[in-house]
Amino acid sequence: MRQIEVETIISAVKDAAIAANYELDEDMLAAFAKGADEEESPAGREIFRQLLENARIASEERIPLCQDCGLAVIFAELGQDLRLVGGDFEAALQEGVRQGYAEGYLRKSLCHPLTRQNTGDNTPAVIHTDIVPGDGLKLQVATKGGGSENGSKLFMLKPAEGLAGIKAKVLATVAEAGPNVCPPVIVGLGIGGNFERCAVLAKKALLRKLTDSHPDPEVAALEQELLTAVNDLGIGPAGLGGRITALGVKINVQPCHIASLPLAINIQCHSSRHREVLL
Ligand code: SF4
Repeated sequence: MRQIEVETIISAVKDAAIAANYELDEDMLAAFAKGADEEESPAGREIFRQLLENARIASEERIPLCQDCGLAVIFAELGQDLRLVGGDFEAALQEGVRQGYAEGYLRKSLCHPLTRQNTGDNTPAVIHTDIVPGDGLKLQVATKGGGSENGSKLFMLKPAEGLAGIKAKVLATVAEAGPNVCPPVIVGLGIGGNFERCAVLAKKALLRKLTDSHPDPEVAALEQELLTAVNDLGIGPAGLGGRITALGVKINVQPCHIASLPLAINIQCHSSRHREVLL
């Protein structure tokens, strides 16, 4: 049986948390460059140029892309034939976050929800673990800002509200969030499952490449339709008006109860920070 030391996991999570906060993925940079050329509004084009400049400075000077270094969310796919030695799995993930936020000089943004006392080390991270076939370990580490999380919503729709109800809620949610979620945004949708599952589906949808589309052609078409509709809202980069409010709409779908139509809308700001590690 293959085995790995949890120290390896700690180190991988630490590096991922730092890298995610210092460097955007190529697909985001390409979208910014495209926006700087194609956005109709002059102010919007300038915002895209500033986003590119901000990303360049953060990468070259090894400093965070944004002052809000986010709450760490980790999606782990743990192979059932992999043996972990030297410690506890979840403790290792938390330790990796702790070390990453300390060594990377990343802002510690977590606090007790009632006393507002800062936890001091940006833990606990939110961890979702799936046991999967094989002997590998995939970790997706996302550092999610509070502003765009605050503009996110969850609805338990009536089944009769259907697709029209879903579209209406998505547009109303993005419109209400406006500039507060630091557009251009990515809109992650979880459709189906149950109350808690649709939120996880929406969050995970945000980890997809901007350039991909859903393998189901009907869902892919809905992604495109909603992207056009969101951009027609005219909120624009930084909320200053323009054609590009969203860079992508990403949907995850799962069967739900016949009495329900759960919909989660998780908004990701332009500081879309995540890293994938395979161990
Ligand atoms: S919403 Fe995103 S870009 Fe805006 S302050 Fe928060 S992390 Fe930064």
